[in-house]
Amino acid sequence: MCLICIEYQKQKMTIREAWSAYGEMAAGMEPKHADEVREMLKEAEAKEKEEQQKNSNP
Ligand SMILES: [Zn+2]
Repeated sequence: MCLICIEYQKQKMTIREAWSAYGEMAAGMEPKHADEVREMLKEAEAKEKEEQQKNSNP
């Protein structure tokens, strides 16, 4: 767990904000966890895109 996980899970961060935090923090994170966070954000981003497409194509 890191600040990104905590804030993102509380929905206090958007994906965009989480990515920018990731960019700043990834170097100081455990490499394994940096990978996990990246995967989490990628998945969240894919889901968000899916939702947007659903909404724009009724
Ligand atoms: Zn974390």
